[in-house]
Amino acid sequence: MASGLVTSTTYLNHDTGPFHPEQPRRLRAIVAAMGEYPALCDLLLLEPRAATRAEVERVHDPLYVDDVAELAAAGGGALDVDTPVSAASYEVALLSAGGALTAVEAVLAGKVSNAFVASRPPGHHARPGRGMGFCLFNNIAVAARHARSLGCERVAILDWDVHHGNGTQDAFYSDPSVFFCSMHQAPWYPFTGDADERGAGAGEGTTLNLPLRAGRRTQEYLDLLDETVAPAIAGFQPDLLLVSAGMDIHERDPLGEMRVSAEGFRQMTLRAAEWATELCAGRLVVCLEGGYDLTALAEGSVHILHGLLGLPVAAAGGTSETTP
Ligand SMILES: [Zn+2]
Repeated sequence: MASGLVTSTTYLNHDTGPFHPEQPRRLRAIVAAMGEYPALCDLLLLEPRAATRAEVERVHDPLYVDDVAELAAAGGGALDVDTPVSAASYEVALLSAGGALTAVEAVLAGKVSNAFVASRPPGHHARPGRGMGFCLFNNIAVAARHARSLGCERVAILDWDVHHGNGTQDAFYSDPSVFFCSMHQAPWYPFTGDADERGAGAGEGTTLNLPLRAGRRTQEYLDLLDETVAPAIAGFQPDLLLVSAGMDIHERDPLGEMRVSAEGFRQMTLRAAEWATELCAGRLVVCLEGGYDLTALAEGSVHILHGLLGLPVAAAGGTSETTP
C-alpha cells in the first residue's frame, strides 16, 4: 500500500517575522529537497482539510481558541515571547491540525498505510489552555482524539523532538486511552518531562518520559527505542501509532544539542513502522514538529519519507546515501 504526504502551500502563510526560527522557508526546504529523490515520486499527495473548531476543542479550551482567532482577526500579535500570531495564523493553524486529521483519516481508511505531515505551525508545546513554544494548536493531540472518535481504542504517541512535548503530555496526562512517550534533552526548554511524570488518575502509567543529557548520538537513540520504547508501546497495544517528529535532534540543529545523523531519522522511522506493522496493521502517522537548520530539516524529512516507504535513500543519478 502507498505512503502519503500531507502538505500545502497555505502553510507558508503563518508569518512569524523575518528573524524567527520557525519560518515558512522550513517547508520550502523540505519540498525542494524531495525533488532530488526519485523514490519519493511514489508518495500519494494528500491535500489537508481544515480542522473544525469542535475537533480542536477536543483538546483545547474554547476560550483559548477564541483568543487565537481574535488575535489573528485583529491583525496579529503574540501568545508569548516566542509564539507570534499573524493575520492568517488562525486559519493556517486549523489547517495544520487538519493536516494531521487528513493523514489519520487516510491511514484508518486504508487509503495509505502510513503518512508524513509536513505542516506548520508545529503543535506539541500547545497546552489545552495556552499556546507556547512556536505552537498554536496541538496537531498531534487533536489527531489522537480524532482517531479515538473514529474507533481507535488506544493511540500511542512517540515524541522524539529535542524539546519535551509538554502540551501533548498535558492533554493526555489523565487519559488511559492515549500512551505518550517523550524522549527529550534535559534540562532544556520547556523544563518539564521528568522521568517521574508518569500520568495521573486513570492515566497513571500511560505517560513515559525519557529525559536525555545533551550530546546523545544516533546509536543511543536507537538503543533507547529498542530497549525501552518498543516494549512500552508493545505493552500498550495501540490501534494507531503517531510520531511527533522533531528534526531538532539533528546534529546541525541550532536549538538542540543532540547528535543524530540524517540516516538516524530513517532508522528511527523504520523502527516505528516495524512496531506499527506488528501492533496495528502498519497504521503510522508522522507529524513534523521542530527542526530549525534548513538543510538538516530537509535531510531528516527525506530520510523519514524513505523510512515510511521502507527504502534506502538514493538521490537522482547518485549512489546510495544509506550508510550508518
Ligand atoms: Zn523542538
